[in-house]
Amino acid sequence: MDKIPFNKPFLTGKETTYIEDAVNRGKLSGNGYYTNLCQSWFTDNYGFKKALLTTSCTDALEMCAILCNLQPGDEVIVPSFTFVSTALAFVREKANIIFADSCEDNPNIDADLVESLITERTKAIVPVHYAGVACDMTKLRQIADKYNVLLVEDAAQAIDSYYIDPVTQKQLPLGTIGHLSAFSFHETKNIISGEGGLLGINAPEYIKRSEIIWEKGTNRAEFFRGEVNKYGWVDNGSSFLPSEMTAAFLWAQLEQIRNIQNKRISLWNKYYQLLKPLADKGCFKMPVIPSYAVNNAHMFYIVCNSLEERTRLIDHLKGHGILAVYHYLSLHKSAYYKDFYQGAELPNCDKFSDTLLRLPLYYELTENQVEYICDQIYSFFSTAH
Ligand SMILES: *Cc1c(COP(=O)(O)O)cnc(C)c1O
Repeated sequence: MDKIPFNKPFLTGKETTYIEDAVNRGKLSGNGYYTNLCQSWFTDNYGFKKALLTTSCTDALEMCAILCNLQPGDEVIVPSFTFVSTALAFVREKANIIFADSCEDNPNIDADLVESLITERTKAIVPVHYAGVACDMTKLRQIADKYNVLLVEDAAQAIDSYYIDPVTQKQLPLGTIGHLSAFSFHETKNIISGEGGLLGINAPEYIKRSEIIWEKGTNRAEFFRGEVNKYGWVDNGSSFLPSEMTAAFLWAQLEQIRNIQNKRISLWNKYYQLLKPLADKGCFKMPVIPSYAVNNAHMFYIVCNSLEERTRLIDHLKGHGILAVYHYLSLHKSAYYKDFYQGAELPNCDKFSDTLLRLPLYYELTENQVEYICDQIYSFFSTAH
């Protein structure tokens, strides 16, 4: 069996065709033909009030942080078990980060703890839909509404995933529930453009300012719509928009989203079905998908019983040509932040830091390879126990 990498970016085959077309259209900078196609795709399919492509999810989060109008000392509630950008984007705007613990049975922010972290300085709550699995959005929305703070969804991993409203049973696309949301098209995500992201805007009062922040703090968008007769520097901002070549690449991916998602979901289900009996014996825990969440197969992970066992399992798999990885050292324990941290212990974050293990999952992975990977996990537990 050839070596199985952890991830392999999938190409639909149309990317270079569309990039060539973008080049031939003669507009290489951002906000052109392909940018509009992609942004319309998002508003049409998911119902954002406005969608703006960005150069990364990190940038989309930075735009959210600017939109929060933070003053020094203002607080933003963020899970500690997440990628750096969820916190960093707000740190750059001088926020005090209030780290929250994960749920006991899955890495998402524990919505029951969030209310106790609210103070009069709280400006935003930033839940992360880990592995594309929805956080408890009813609770988080209620808290955000009650205390009049912004709800910003880090939906980096959550494209084509949904929250099922427990009252109406309606499937709400993740990223459309908070005031603002951020998606990633990094090559490790389901839909990719190398580096890339999207700001989703659901609260219409943020549209106008978002367009300005997006284009270097200028009112260029209004100018090109003929709404003002001069454009200039009117606000904070940066160059957050990607070039047309990046948007052209992304368009080739969006056209194939059903195909990509169906394939990933079938591989995910295969893992689940094959590994469930071992989990039932107590060898590790399976990913938990709450009844209000839909699975978009962003990742397949297991939760090992100890750090030591995870380390040995990684080595065992590596010895059989399989690259399995773990991630997210709790951010409150990271080198950059640990000396400032004054909050409580976050035991669930630490547990997932020590024991969560991600298995290979990418479009070109075959069912045979999933069987092979699971066989190696079985052999590990048959000798280790
Ligand atoms: C990937 C990821 C990001 C960062 O996305 P980029 O597009 O690489 O900036 C942010 N948050 C989470 C939860 C992620 O998984």
